[in-house]
Amino acid sequence: MSKVRFAPSPTGYLHIGGARTCLFAWLYARHTAKGFVLRIEDTDMVRSKKEYLQEILESLQWLGLDWDDIEYQSERFDIYRDYANKLIEQGKAYKKDGAVFIKYDVQEVRINDLIRGEIVFQELPKQEDVIIKSDGSPTYNFCCVIDDSLMDIDPVVRGEDHISNTPKQILMYRAMDFKVPSFAHLPLIMAEGGGRMSKRFGATAISEYRKLGYLPEAIVNYLLLLGWSPGDDREIFSLKEASELFDIKRINKTSAAFSFDKLNWINGEYIRKMSLDELCERLLSFYAADNPEFHDCPMDYFKRVVELFHVRLVTLSEFMDKSRFCFCDDFVYNNNAAEVLDNKLSKEITLLIARLKDLTVFDKALVETVFRQVVDEAGIKTKFLVHPVRVALTGDKIGPGLFEMMEVLGKEKVLDRLTRLLKYWEVKNV
Ligand code: GLU
Repeated sequence: MSKVRFAPSPTGYLHIGGARTCLFAWLYARHTAKGFVLRIEDTDMVRSKKEYLQEILESLQWLGLDWDDIEYQSERFDIYRDYANKLIEQGKAYKKDGAVFIKYDVQEVRINDLIRGEIVFQELPKQEDVIIKSDGSPTYNFCCVIDDSLMDIDPVVRGEDHISNTPKQILMYRAMDFKVPSFAHLPLIMAEGGGRMSKRFGATAISEYRKLGYLPEAIVNYLLLLGWSPGDDREIFSLKEASELFDIKRINKTSAAFSFDKLNWINGEYIRKMSLDELCERLLSFYAADNPEFHDCPMDYFKRVVELFHVRLVTLSEFMDKSRFCFCDDFVYNNNAAEVLDNKLSKEITLLIARLKDLTVFDKALVETVFRQVVDEAGIKTKFLVHPVRVALTGDKIGPGLFEMMEVLGKEKVLDRLTRLLKYWEVKNV
């Protein structure tokens, strides 16, 4: 049975567009139970770099796109040279100035593209082309054709930026008497607002998305939806479900625009439906190298803090910023929160401190009851006390539910921080 391949060149990092090409090729392979080959196109000895290769492999593994075989074109130069010699013997190629040129038998070229239907190429290649450069290295089109043929690749799934190479490749298949495979040229991903995805628009390498705190399952899910749908309005799929449902005919012919809003929504969905234990594990490994404060806190406390933020997280990387006040006491009050503190409520806060001190069980229901009693006694509106208390406890105006948060922080921290607010007013003399 034929196979499907992804053929990255290690001359750069794995780009979001490359990852989507790989995903569609991988889904096709898994859906049809064909083998999936990762072919490293490292014939350009100058531009190919070990660190790019490493990053590509790690990114693919991280995304869960596994391969059955891996081949390196740099180890196959003998094969390409043999084919070039064969073409020379047959009079279909010749040597000049140290390079080998193929002479095409230029005839009409048409392909049946699995996504775009029949394509008749109006512009045909010129009569000849280099297949082995004077430094001995083969050209992309030449080794691509040899490998796709010898590795029994069918269909050839790749980005439509390669469509202009296809006529040359077809003529090479014919010259070498290879069977021409079918092709599936995928529409490209465009940047939000048009144009090609570039650095200017934001993260382009998969490893950057990883660092930004996106989940691999959310990224592949999002990439899948960029230009593909199962035919109904479902939007959340695991790789396994997607490989069962995948139908290459349902890929849109037009390019799709990347949307960070949509990716963020999907990432948040995955975080929300994750178990608390799983989210804790992901956060611990995400922050493993950074060594933030929470690595040293008791696991039980860490878990309760994560629970506070579980439904509010869009990415893993937001966690530390949002939850910093849970792991350190010396935070400053946010500038935009200061206005909340303009109104000095020392009397009310002092009363709240006294009442909270009396609590032997510090849970959210009891804390709330005490809080409401203080508000009643003081004769003020609840919000007038909620805001400064929140700023005292977190440094910010927004955050998780106040009473849940007080329960998680615990009595001692809450009392200390309320006392700190009294001191702030004293010093500022507002
Ligand atoms: N190595 C090519 C690239 O990275 C892929 C060529 C192909 O898929 O045929 O763009």
